[in-house]
Amino acid sequence: MEASLQATFDEAQHIVFLTGAGVSTPSGIPDYRSKNGLYTGHRNAEYYLSHTCLVQEPAVFYDYVKRNLYYPDAKPNIIHEKQAALTQQDRAMVITQNIDNLYNVAHTKHLVEFHGNMYQVHCQVCGAKVAWQDYLQDPHHEVDGGWLRPDVVLYDEGLNEMNIQRSVAAMNQADLVVIVGTSMRVYPFAGLLDYRNSAAKVVVINQEKLDLGFDYDMVQADATDFFNELQVRG
Ligand SMILES: [Zn+2]
Repeated sequence: MEASLQATFDEAQHIVFLTGAGVSTPSGIPDYRSKNGLYTGHRNAEYYLSHTCLVQEPAVFYDYVKRNLYYPDAKPNIIHEKQAALTQQDRAMVITQNIDNLYNVAHTKHLVEFHGNMYQVHCQVCGAKVAWQDYLQDPHHEVDGGWLRPDVVLYDEGLNEMNIQRSVAAMNQADLVVIVGTSMRVYPFAGLLDYRNSAAKVVVINQEKLDLGFDYDMVQADATDFFNELQVRG
């Protein structure tokens, strides 16, 4: 790693990591939006993950998410761990599109799960929180028989307002924005870049360049290699 890049991380006080599926693929979780990911072979995969499916065919929804979106044995990797360490120094926030819970497992102190989390589940009738292990056994709440659902943002559902506010505030304050494991093509997540502090340096860690519509620092590298080399200094 170039010394100047390490220095950029050492000096930054308000880092925002904008992350996506590429952070979790090294943990064995497929990118469900990529060509080789879970959507392959599912003609209407967006339908399975829609509010419409949840309401109109809850058993179909349940079967799909149970088979495709739970990886309870997956472990955080070096990317999660180094980012989490920076949040523990109160110098960074992670805003992720991932719904796999791995940033929580890695003890990320400042975290926005922009699209929610598959491992938080509640009853649609009474609102009670239910353990995800129970959900994987039975999609109905044992107390009242209501359909359970994971706390994720489905297609044709709105985002959590608090997550938007926290994300925008972090982008306003950022002195360093680091994009990892996402091509920033999915809105409204990609729109967060519009809220970045005008003085913030933007670094992209990716195998391919991204078209962000403005200049940024490109680190053409495997994210796992990059975070292996990055030193987290207190
Ligand atoms: Zn209930």
